[in-house]
Amino acid sequence: MNRKGFTTSILHSDRTGGIEHGSLHKPVHSSITFAQPTAADIAAVFQGRQAGLTYGRQVNPTTSALEKKLTLMEEGLATCCFATGMAAISTTMLALLRSGDHLVSSSFLFGNTNSVFNTFANYGIDTSFVDATAVANVEAALRPNTRAVFVETIANPCTQISDLAGIGKLCAERGLLFIVDNTMTSPWNFRPKSVGAGLVINSLSKYIGGHGNALGGSVTETGVFDWQAFPNILDIYKTGPAHNWGMLQIRKKGLRDLGATLSPDAASQIAFGAETLALRQERSASNALELAHWFEAHPAVAQVFHPGLESHPQYARAQRLFRHAGSLMSIELRPEVDCFRFLDALELVVIASNLGDNRTLAIPVAHTIYYEMGPARHAEMGITDGTVRFSIGIEDIDDLLADFGQALAQAQTPKAP
Ligand SMILES: *Cc1c(COP(=O)(O)O)cnc(C)c1O
Repeated sequence: MNRKGFTTSILHSDRTGGIEHGSLHKPVHSSITFAQPTAADIAAVFQGRQAGLTYGRQVNPTTSALEKKLTLMEEGLATCCFATGMAAISTTMLALLRSGDHLVSSSFLFGNTNSVFNTFANYGIDTSFVDATAVANVEAALRPNTRAVFVETIANPCTQISDLAGIGKLCAERGLLFIVDNTMTSPWNFRPKSVGAGLVINSLSKYIGGHGNALGGSVTETGVFDWQAFPNILDIYKTGPAHNWGMLQIRKKGLRDLGATLSPDAASQIAFGAETLALRQERSASNALELAHWFEAHPAVAQVFHPGLESHPQYARAQRLFRHAGSLMSIELRPEVDCFRFLDALELVVIASNLGDNRTLAIPVAHTIYYEMGPARHAEMGITDGTVRFSIGIEDIDDLLADFGQALAQAQTPKAP
């Protein structure tokens, strides 16, 4: 197939479906149900014998248009959207795993993903959390009942990079499902299919939506995994080509039954954002790289975590796998520099959670998003009370340098008595 470029294909994907009035955007379809001309038609649609729409919890034309864009971005076969990134993760796992199954994941994981995997233990699904920057740790954790390996690309907040190619190879050799959460890189920066991922998760709330105005999540089938080797597919979903089985079960047992549906309004917002994903990421990544070097040379900063720095342990891996080193970074302030004073002195940079927003955001992680984990896990993850995470935005670089410069200067000056 003659594939168009990344941005071209996203920009023109709605039009190829033939939208009424020559509209360039897929409209928001707010209807939750869809009429069929006859009883025979509704029966055929519900039984999957005829194309057609069933009910808004499972399918919506606006969401389908976004799913098509995500499939193009990941160069996959099909995508299913959810209300949030967490819904995409939890639903996918619950649809595919059973009590008695085992999962291997990374000890460097988005906090809520770590939390939900721990909750799965209550339902008989155990997770081993290992340092996934080395495939040997993943291999050592495998058990006869291991059904999948789940990792992220660049981890929060200290930017460790999983041994994506090594784990993909291991999973292929063992016939294991490899699931990659691509949120931190986004499909513009990296395609997990290239390292053998069978399923790719994206939080659409982050870079893909990009404007911090809509929550969403997705899972994409890449076509790499052989679902015939997966023991948990129900017989009713073993219809048609085997590469469709997993997604069919995720849509039915996951989206339909668990019900974390993306709203069509959010799908539309995210689709607008997706049009400029590549442009926004180029800008935020170049801002981030310049800031990373600047922070590294600043006397108030003890350490900088960013994969674009040669001091980063997986610098070579990032160069090999990714288009750019991303726009997430963390700094470790020197112990004598007060982290809260630094944050409070920021004028432009916003004190807020979230990442992948157009605006630059800063958050003290030990006190907020990783608070529930406690000090022991913080130490394992390289987090201290002075760790500040930034999601670098698309502002003009001189404004960011000026704001960080004045805030660090203020945090360094001794407090008035
Ligand atoms: C934010 C995030 C999620 C969860 O996405 P939501 O849309 O906020 O639910 C999952 N994984 C990673 C890596 C994230 O950064």
